[in-house]
Amino acid sequence: MKKDQPVVMEETHEKALRIIFNPEMFVQPLSLEKPVLRGSRCRECGRTYFPKRTICTDCRSDENMEEVPLSRYGQLYCYTVVYAAPEGFIPPYAFGLVVLPEGLRLFSIIQDCEPFDARLKIGMEVELDFGAIARNEAGQDVYNYVFKPSRRRE
Ligand SMILES: [Zn+2]
Repeated sequence: MKKDQPVVMEETHEKALRIIFNPEMFVQPLSLEKPVLRGSRCRECGRTYFPKRTICTDCRSDENMEEVPLSRYGQLYCYTVVYAAPEGFIPPYAFGLVVLPEGLRLFSIIQDCEPFDARLKIGMEVELDFGAIARNEAGQDVYNYVFKPSRRRE
């Protein structure tokens, strides 16, 4: 592995090697498992953060943060479709703000949602997953957590 490459993980199926965009932000799926976002919660005041923090900016507590897995289902707060993308990203794709039950709002690429206007609705349930979001200079897929329209039945 070259030193300038991001972390590479081994997979037991599909591709032997995967390049991960933000490896510290989530528990990476093995085989057919789903990813889980790694948040942190303040034991003092209960506030939850993502990405993880070591100090609570609400109550200033600095020794009471614990890592917690975040909910895998959230609500699509708003989205846009990106047609002019940064280098490596392949347009068009949807980019949205997802609200988790913990009260967190996080930006994410939304996948499996074309045609966008027909599949994406403000307020719909979305589900955390894992997908290729871009290509690096070597032409390899770069993976990250993403959200997709929820497939569970309510
Ligand atoms: Zn706190």
